Amino acid sequence: MSENNAPSEAQIAEAVEAALAAVAAAGSSEELKAARIAHLGDKSVITLAGRSIGAVAPELKAVLGKAVGQAKGRVGAAFAARAEEITLVEQQQRLREETVDVTVAVERAARGARHPLSTLQERLSDLFIGMGWEVAEGPEVEAEFFNFDALNFDADHPARQMQDTFYLAPEGSGKIMRTHTSPVQARALLERGVPLYIVCPGKTFRTDELDATHSPVFHQLEGLAVDKHLTMANLVGTLDAVAKGIFGEGAITRLRPSYFPFTEPSAEMDFRCFACDAKLGIDTDADPACRVCGGTGWIEMGGCGMVNPNVLRAAGIDPEEYRGFAFGLGIERILMLRNGVKDMHDMVEGDQRFTQHYGTEI
Ligand SMILES: [Zn+2]
Repeated sequence: MSENNAPSEAQIAEAVEAALAAVAAAGSSEELKAARIAHLGDKSVITLAGRSIGAVAPELKAVLGKAVGQAKGRVGAAFAARAEEITLVEQQQRLREETVDVTVAVERAARGARHPLSTLQERLSDLFIGMGWEVAEGPEVEAEFFNFDALNFDADHPARQMQDTFYLAPEGSGKIMRTHTSPVQARALLERGVPLYIVCPGKTFRTDELDATHSPVFHQLEGLAVDKHLTMANLVGTLDAVAKGIFGEGAITRLRPSYFPFTEPSAEMDFRCFACDAKLGIDTDADPACRVCGGTGWIEMGGCGMVNPNVLRAAGIDPEEYRGFAFGLGIERILMLRNGVKDMHDMVEGDQRFTQHYGTEI
């Protein structure tokens, strides 16, 4: 069909019927789009008829023009109406398909959790920061000097053998894995001077086998205060604050005489058993069946004392002018007591079922 050979009215009517049938048959917007191209596109009968109007004989122009106009009008209206229907149906279908079923089980990826030893260590440090203390850190591979000598352990001191130490090769290197966090105290005294209020949290190492209550790597939090006029009363007050911070109001401490090379006098500190307290109240006797304290009413927490004058002297501080107190807490022990952890293996095996129990603190 060419422009010079204009479609007849009958052909146009036929094209309109075909277009209407295609519109009715279109079931999707894709099909409707294809029908529009076929029946109203550049090569369609109706479009060609419109273009041919100019070329036909003048007396036929009006008739052809009317036929084309009506054809375009009917077919266009049919397309518009069908498009509206299809859009509605497709929208409803999409809404149905995109409905989220919140009851369907989904696959969950395990999220990592911070280790409870880390969060407890930070919580303890925060207690001291709240009292105006500073956090100090030191190397885990330590000079024997800072680990022992600067802390008043003689070369043949029995305490030096009391601790089973990892010595680093080669023999005589003078390097060890620190057996306690106390060398950080000696370093801080030298580096920061006095007055000094620090806590040193961190890993310590001893040649213990891993079992339910021991680990070759464990964590301590060491505290040291050096100032003028400090007494045992300041130590006790500080420990009481720590006990309350860990185990809640009502926690109190008691000291029993003991011996450490770096403190004089030295004491073992006990915290009043929080489990018995919870049950019976602070002024009553311990619960004989208490598993936390074994019926004694007290929990052993670590060592403490007034800083030995020799330790101060080793750091160039005059013990006549300054005095200090120090204490050490075992983080694992606190976690075991506070959270009822029964076995050290749980703390070191990296099982997320253990850490996630404490929440996913980031
Ligand atoms: Zn108890």
